[in-house]
Amino acid sequence: MRGESVAELWVVLQEYEGLPPEYNQEVLAEAQEVVEHYPAGRLQLCAVQLRAPLPDLTEKSLEENFRTIRPERLYVLEHRGLAQYTTEGYVAALSWLIREREPALIVTSATANGQDWVPRLAAQLGLPLVARCLSFRLEQEALLSLRALYGGRAYVQTRMRLPRLPALVTFVPGTRGIPPATHPPRGRPPEVITYRPPLGTETFSQRLRSLAVEAPAAEEVELEAAEKIVAGGRGLGREGFAELATFARLLGAAVGASRVATDRGWVEPERQIGATGKSVSPRLYIACGISGAAQHTSGIREAQTIVAINPDRNAPIFALADLGLLGDAREVLRRAAELLQEETVGT
Ligand SMILES: Cc1cc2nc3c(=O)[nH]c(=O)nc-3n(C[C@H](O)[C@H](O)[C@H](O)COP(=O)(O)OP(=O)(O)OC[C@H]3O[C@@H](n4cnc5c(N)ncnc54)[C@H](O)[C@@H]3O)c2cc1C
Repeated sequence: MRGESVAELWVVLQEYEGLPPEYNQEVLAEAQEVVEHYPAGRLQLCAVQLRAPLPDLTEKSLEENFRTIRPERLYVLEHRGLAQYTTEGYVAALSWLIREREPALIVTSATANGQDWVPRLAAQLGLPLVARCLSFRLEQEALLSLRALYGGRAYVQTRMRLPRLPALVTFVPGTRGIPPATHPPRGRPPEVITYRPPLGTETFSQRLRSLAVEAPAAEEVELEAAEKIVAGGRGLGREGFAELATFARLLGAAVGASRVATDRGWVEPERQIGATGKSVSPRLYIACGISGAAQHTSGIREAQTIVAINPDRNAPIFALADLGLLGDAREVLRRAAELLQEETVGT
């Protein structure tokens, strides 16, 4: 890395309608570990925020962004054109800051936006990129990373030499789970440095215009982002998934599944949870007709409360569950949906 100077690792924060998504916390936690594995004092954790000019950052905003880990420094990139996410705006503003500060590594969550601007920035500046990492470490001249292949059926560890800096990394959301907030957060309050990058109106070409932001129906929410998940397995049967979807809609939960259910085509493959599916971290996870095989439960380790519905009292899922219901899942889901409907009508 550049001589004896202190290199910078940037976490680019992402926002959704003004609220910092939880993923920022887990990327900061992973980045903090990268700093700790690097020779002491030679790598600094910094965060980057892009936004429209606003009144001074309040304590509250700093608190919301850094509930667990505080970086050494927060770079705020302010420009009118950054009020809303645009590919061109992010690429132009970050290219400018990279030239100003020359960081060693830039990481962000592999959300839809993250997967949009990061490769474009890499292509424009000719920088190395490792996409969709499950973990990564920085060495003096190389980047080590763990990634999933073939839809998660295999893992590969790579070591990429870094002839050019900075390198770019996207981190799969939900991999680590959201670290619990600590009081006070680790580290001192960050030094805040605000930049106003000289971006002309031509940067915001209007080739892409945001017309509206519409939230998906709860059951269509990406599993990694879902706060509540109702998942079904073999014990639910194909027909049971219709009842599960009704219940999920009423509860405002996303639909998940075991591999048996996705392999049989009862629900789309993107809904599979587990070692070769998605890792999720909801507040509530309801497993219906799922036995609790290790390959499934490895994907729900970060779930806060687990409820299991299964007629077999020896099913391994009960060892993990906070609440277990012995019985037929379809019957329980039907009854629970009726109760929720009655409650909705009553209010
Ligand atoms: C390399 C590899 C990777 C894998 N990756 C994954 C993965 O990512 N995700 C995954 O899920 N699996 C994965 N698997 C498969 C995994 O090992 C299990 O086979 C699978 O999770 C079992 O799914 P299940 O719980 O739906 O079915 P089962 O294990 O057959 O369990 C069905 C359960 O339903 C209960 N049941 C029966 N009737 C009812 C009823 N009326 N109401 C409620 N419950 C009922 C039964 O008591 C039973 O406990 C993988 C396997 C391998 C080898």
